[in-house]
Amino acid sequence: MVRPIYGRLGVRAMSSVSSVQGLLSNPNLLKTQCYVNGQWVSSKSGETFDVNNPATNLAVSSVPEMTVEELQEAIVVAKNAFESFKDTTGRERSDLLRKYADLMMANQSDLGHIITMENGKPLAEGKGEIATCAAYFKWFSEEAPRVYGETIPSQIKGIRIHTVKQPIGVCGIITPWNFPASMIARKVGAALAAGCTSVIKPADATPLSALAMADIAEQAGVPKGVINVVTSRNKVSEFGSTLCESPLVSKISFTGSTRVGKILMGESAATLKKVSFELGGNAPFIVFGDSDVDAAVEGAVLSKFRGSGQTCICANRIYVHESVHDEFVKKFSEKVANFNVGNGLEEGITHGPLTSTQSVDKVHRHVTDALDKNATLHVGGSKLPELGPNFYAPTVLSGVNPEMLVTKEETFGPLAAVTKFSTDDEVIQLANNVEVGLAAYVYTRDVSRVHKVTEGLQVGMVGVNTGLITEASMPFGGVKESGFGREGSLYGLEDYLSIKSVITKL
Ligand code: ADP
Repeated sequence: MVRPIYGRLGVRAMSSVSSVQGLLSNPNLLKTQCYVNGQWVSSKSGETFDVNNPATNLAVSSVPEMTVEELQEAIVVAKNAFESFKDTTGRERSDLLRKYADLMMANQSDLGHIITMENGKPLAEGKGEIATCAAYFKWFSEEAPRVYGETIPSQIKGIRIHTVKQPIGVCGIITPWNFPASMIARKVGAALAAGCTSVIKPADATPLSALAMADIAEQAGVPKGVINVVTSRNKVSEFGSTLCESPLVSKISFTGSTRVGKILMGESAATLKKVSFELGGNAPFIVFGDSDVDAAVEGAVLSKFRGSGQTCICANRIYVHESVHDEFVKKFSEKVANFNVGNGLEEGITHGPLTSTQSVDKVHRHVTDALDKNATLHVGGSKLPELGPNFYAPTVLSGVNPEMLVTKEETFGPLAAVTKFSTDDEVIQLANNVEVGLAAYVYTRDVSRVHKVTEGLQVGMVGVNTGLITEASMPFGGVKESGFGREGSLYGLEDYLSIKSVITKL
């Protein structure tokens, strides 16, 4: 049994806060207040909510339950800050972002600990996520001075046309709990590069990384009001509608479920806001008969079980050609059986808890549904109450068919569901037979097949012979009900800019 590191701490938030702070070399990064207009503020209501470590269910910190009026004040602050920030030069914003990137890395260990304490992922993954944040800030620091317009030949004599790209305005940023830091870096990095200001509403399960990143932004010299972070647990829908309906907010960037994305899109209609959505996935992972099976096993482990299966690009349906199916399932199951599940802060832990007991229940529902419909269990298949209520055993099932829940819904947990297939056309059809289309993975050595299959898959991103696809220079995003807009890359910046055409008569 894994001994909880914080077992000796009380459940009262404040006593936990002081003890947890002891783990950080800069305890000031563990916040208990929101960040608005360059000030650390509590809610005037005095209300707070606890942020728990999912590995121990004990409070790590408590943060303000802000009111809708306080959110509206933050929007006004961001609007006022925009009036001057929009006029900074690309080079000035580049320097800010570069400093932000460097400071993220200088504080990597503390920030990684904060991620692990609020999200549960192993510390190595927490620190890795901070490196990803720094990579995004660095990327956007390089993009900021290169926001070029164009000179366009007119069809009419005596007319000149040129375009300028301008920051779109105040951005409402709503983020999920699975990447508490990097989802913010992707959006805020682009917003800063463009000259936009932001009001960030992080997921209530994981607001601490967002608040710590506001502290780092302040250290980097980001001007007052350019980045604001407001937290709430009880009013997430009111916060969403306030951001979407405010005439002062020009853009909404949301990462989260398709369900909430549809609500936010509806709420944004009245003001016709620019929206970008990175929503749910249900990624197919396809292993063809000609693939390097060991490499495919390695890739499937990474893609399926990263963050204990709680990423939107995690493989959710693993299709393996009949000629290599048994070999793949055997090798894959052996690897999964050797995972070391426990508290992500402990040495040697490879996989942490899920973020909530509801997530555990969903995984278990998918497992029991599949087993009831005659799937075969190879590893796992149960909750791990001896570790805590949020732990689920990494699980491998084969004999999975399209009638099972696991193929229809994104599991968002440590369940690998393997289906055998025979032909290329069959597997492309199976892979596309869902309403969402974010990521897919393909393992093959046949170059023609690479082109045919990647072109046929209805997704925004395809990993070919790799289970790891995210990086700052790649456009990240989906098609169908996985949303629209791209993050990272040059396109990520475009989402925060509007094009103005200037037509001059000579
Ligand atoms: P998940 O299922 O991964 O938790 P959600 O879409 O529920 O994804 O949550 C992602 C983000 O959306 C979080 O910040 C959450 O607080 C916020 N959220 C949840 N419900 C709503 C809503 N009705 N309106 C606005 N934001 C919401």
